[in-house]
Amino acid sequence: MLNIVLFGPPGAGKGTQSEKLIKHYGLTHLSTGDLFRKHLGEGSDLGNLAKQYMNEGRLVPDEVVIKMVEQKIADTEGSKGFIFDGFPRTTAQAKALDSMLEKHDLAISGMIALEVEEDVLRARIKERGKTSGRADDQDDQKISTRIKVYLDETLPVADFYRNQGKYQSVNGVGTIEEIFASITEVIDSY
Ligand code: ADP
Repeated sequence: MLNIVLFGPPGAGKGTQSEKLIKHYGLTHLSTGDLFRKHLGEGSDLGNLAKQYMNEGRLVPDEVVIKMVEQKIADTEGSKGFIFDGFPRTTAQAKALDSMLEKHDLAISGMIALEVEEDVLRARIKERGKTSGRADDQDDQKISTRIKVYLDETLPVADFYRNQGKYQSVNGVGTIEEIFASITEVIDSY
């Protein structure tokens, strides 16, 4: 099984590359942002709970995220593995993911971090905001909050995997195909 954490700041291209990776390797895409947006669209309790946090660019509380991921893993049978996109976003989530996978006799194969500088991120998010319909993509203040939350709360997750010898980074600037080639090179070396 291949279980990959695709890591990087908002706007780094995790969603775009995830789509290509799931097709190439036959993996299951687990994007917590997408799952929350689905719940939001359905008006479920979980969606309503997440709404305020998402609109402000803050993190949804760990216990809520962890429960949702646990459910998704339990519901997915016969998968060749997962691409985790936008999760884990805190060290507590990373620890919870390790124990969840352990229960199923699984483990993370590696974390791949997409490196993109801040001005490029901001430009990409604003561009996406023109078509994504996401309120959090259209407002400079919200984008700033998301980048700050990433630096303060999410960046330490890279150290968590670095300490396990599972961290590698790739250049997240270039064509979609170039970046995809860099990622597959890492995965094929596992
Ligand atoms: P991006 O990576 O572009 O910021 P996502 O689609 O991954 O966007 O996430 C959108 C929002 O959903 C986040 O700003 C946050 O409010 C919430 N969210 C997504 N994943 C998590 C997570 N693992 N933990 C807490 N909140 C999350």
